[in-house]
Amino acid sequence: MSIKITVNGEEKEIKQGLNLAELLAELEVDPEVTVAKLNDSMVPQGELAERDVESGDNIEYIFFMGGGAFDLTEEEIERYSRHIILKDLGGTGQQKIKDAKVLVVGAGGLGSPVAFYLAAAGVGTLGLVDSDHVDLTNLQRQILHTTEDTGRPKVDSAREKLEAMNPNVEVKTYNQYLNKDNVKAIIADYDIIVDGVDNFPTRYLLNDACVMAGKPLVEAGILQFSGQLTTIMPGEGPCYRCIFAEPPKEGAIPSCQEAGVLGAIAGTIGTLQATEVLKLITGIGRPLVGRMLVYDAKDLSFREVEVKKSDKCDVCGDNPVITELMEYELSCNLHQQAEA
Ligand SMILES: [Zn+2]
Repeated sequence: MSIKITVNGEEKEIKQGLNLAELLAELEVDPEVTVAKLNDSMVPQGELAERDVESGDNIEYIFFMGGGAFDLTEEEIERYSRHIILKDLGGTGQQKIKDAKVLVVGAGGLGSPVAFYLAAAGVGTLGLVDSDHVDLTNLQRQILHTTEDTGRPKVDSAREKLEAMNPNVEVKTYNQYLNKDNVKAIIADYDIIVDGVDNFPTRYLLNDACVMAGKPLVEAGILQFSGQLTTIMPGEGPCYRCIFAEPPKEGAIPSCQEAGVLGAIAGTIGTLQATEVLKLITGIGRPLVGRMLVYDAKDLSFREVEVKKSDKCDVCGDNPVITELMEYELSCNLHQQAEA
C-alpha cells in the first residue's frame, strides 16, 4: 500500500507505515537536516521517530548548512524558514543575518523599504538615523509612516513599525542630523551602512566617513522616474567621490521637493539596497562594487555603468586631500538631490 503526501511542496507517493525519521532516511535527506515540519508544526529532532506519516500529510524539512551551533530560537527557525531552506543561505546565513549590525541613514523613501526588509529578514541590530518629523507630503512614498504619524519624529514612527514587524530585531534610533561631529561615533557600531539620505552634503559626508572607517556603504538615490545604486567597498572599489568628485553646483540638480519622484521608485531601489545588504552579510553572489545600476522607470530598463576607483580621488586616492571630515554647507534646499 502506498499513500500520497506533500514534501517541500511536491507531491510524493510513499509506502504506508513510515514514521518521520524513516521517511527522511527514505528520501536520503542529508544528515545535517535538523528541522522538520509536519502539517505546519515544528517537530523536534528527538520526536521524529514518534510521528507517523499519514496520507495527505504536508511535510517540510529545512537544511542547516555547514553544521555548527546556531543561536536561533524555534520561533526564529520557523519565522525564517523560507530563508533557511535556501541552500546558499541555510542556518549559517541566517545566523550571520542575526549577528549583523546595519545602520540605515534616513527613515524616508529609501530607508522605509530597506529597514522593513532588513527587519523582516532578521538583522539583529538595526540603527536608524533621521532628525525629521513625518510630513503629509512624505506619505506618498515613505511606507514606514502612516497618516496618524504626521508630526511625529520619523525614527519613533519607524521603530514602532519595525518592532511590530519583527520583535527579534533590536532597533536603535538616532534622532539627529548626521554631521562631521557625530557621524564617526554613530557608524562605529555597525558593519554595513545604507545611504537613504535626501541631500548632497550628508551623502558626501557619509561617503567620506565610511571610506575613513573602512565600512561598506550601500549607496542610492532617486529622482522623478529614475534611480541609481552602487555598493561602495572602501579599498576594493570606487567611492562616491571617485564617481562624482564634487557635489553639483547649487541648483544644478533639483530636489524631489522641486522636481518630484514617483513613490514606487523608492520601493524598487530600496529593496535592491536591502538585497545588497543581505548579500554582503551572507557573502552570497557578487556585490554591486565598481558598477552603478541606473534604473529608468518610464522605459522599465536597467543599465549598468562600470565605475572605477580613481587614483586622484580626494578621499580614497593615492594622495587624499580630505583626511578630516568636512561638511558642505546646506545653504538652501537647492542642494538637495534624491529626496529619499
Ligand atoms: Zn574615492
